[in-house]
Amino acid sequence: MSRTLIVSNRLPTKVLRTDEGLTFQPSEGGLATGLGSIYRQGDNLWIGWPGLFVQDESEEEHIRTELRADNMAPVFLTENEIRDFYEGFSNSTLWPTFHYFSEFATYEQSHWEAYVAVNEKFCEAVLAEAGPEDTIWVHDYQLLLLPEMLRKARPEAAIGFFLHIPFPSQEIIRVLPWRSELLRGMLGADLIGFHTFGYLRHFLSAVSHLLGLSAQNGQIDTPTRSVRVDAFPMGIDYQRYALAAASEEAKKHVEEYKEAMRDTRVILSIDRLDYTKGIAQRLRAFELLLQRYPEWRGQVSLVMLVVPSRDQVPQYASLKEEIDELVGRINSQYRTIGWNPILYFYRSLPLEELAALYRLAEVALVTPMRDGMNLVAKEFIASKLDQHGVLILSERAGAARELSDAILINPTDINQLVEALHDALVMPEEEQATRLKAMQALVKRYNVFSWTKLFMNQLAYTKMKQHTLA
Ligand code: UDP
Repeated sequence: MSRTLIVSNRLPTKVLRTDEGLTFQPSEGGLATGLGSIYRQGDNLWIGWPGLFVQDESEEEHIRTELRADNMAPVFLTENEIRDFYEGFSNSTLWPTFHYFSEFATYEQSHWEAYVAVNEKFCEAVLAEAGPEDTIWVHDYQLLLLPEMLRKARPEAAIGFFLHIPFPSQEIIRVLPWRSELLRGMLGADLIGFHTFGYLRHFLSAVSHLLGLSAQNGQIDTPTRSVRVDAFPMGIDYQRYALAAASEEAKKHVEEYKEAMRDTRVILSIDRLDYTKGIAQRLRAFELLLQRYPEWRGQVSLVMLVVPSRDQVPQYASLKEEIDELVGRINSQYRTIGWNPILYFYRSLPLEELAALYRLAEVALVTPMRDGMNLVAKEFIASKLDQHGVLILSERAGAARELSDAILINPTDINQLVEALHDALVMPEEEQATRLKAMQALVKRYNVFSWTKLFMNQLAYTKMKQHTLA
């Protein structure tokens, strides 16, 4: 019987070293939830890095056994690999380049070599498990070379690849010294999925300019096989967020927050610490709102949650400093005894508190400079049970292609941001409800489970057609 193997850099379980020894924490991410229905079935398996450095062989064995019981298999990375493959090539070369921040990208041959070696390591781990006709679904930018490596060893396997970040213009991609290898790596798949048609078009144009391969009707003809490309906008587990927002616990939190904030109206901002998210620009826009519309002083607060991330990469550390400084400056200038302009949290919150913030906020301010999709925007929509609230969304987030009833803005246009904030704060309730209802219908229907199903069905169909044509 054929199996399905999911492969991603991180496993859906995080292994942590604590005083009591190793602990296993399920990751609550969208991908883990969406693919849960697949990898937990029968003999299926999820292969990936458990998120920590392990030196001891008996510890490795212990982790392997524990994970196996939950249909997972670990790929262990050495400290050098974590530095050069993960923090290096993945997060300091590919991440900035694919998000149009080439000025932050480094081009280190040693990082590239580590990237190749780790992709090979993943390939071996998959081959140790995969039969000749298994279905393999590879995820994201850390594993761009893996589809081609797998294809060489398993010519008949059904291989899918999904990119969770943007695919940039070919003008940007061609800056990478290893551009052709990366594109060829992806083309080892039978089906390549992107969040939007925009990313897909950029990929086709890169493949045409850099590899001389042409495409027709979503199909790229390589000398040996044809490869299908399509857009699959990823969704969220809608019920999970709707139920969390409706829960007694969230309601209790909302009441506490309201009391503590004396019913001040809330604009909400939630991101991982990242230069792609436009956090500093957002703070400047809020400051300008208070200058231009003094009537909002004392009436509105920005609740800003920044989740710590990648603090080993220098740009992230300096971004953190910039944010700290801006928050300090704005708060010290405008604060009164009874009112804080910005309530800033640098940590991650449990789902119940996150749900309470989504429920409490009247406006969600989601203004990334670039974002593959942005799930926070969709989670806010799912949490607005009373259909009262406004989403301000960057036109450069993948989610903007679907959420056209949000107030769409260009995140670099600070004046547009200020006006959008003001418009959101005075938007009539009927208009809020009309916009939210339309977006809720969409986010509910195209959820993470339908996303998974669509991709897997399309992969099976693509494979079947290849066989019929052969
Ligand atoms: N999130 C979280 N803990 C927090 C704040 C946010 O787990 O304290 C989650 C949030 O619910 C969302 C994810 O982090 O599911 C962020 O995903 P998004 O697509 O918005 O951005 P990414 O971090 O993947 O770039």
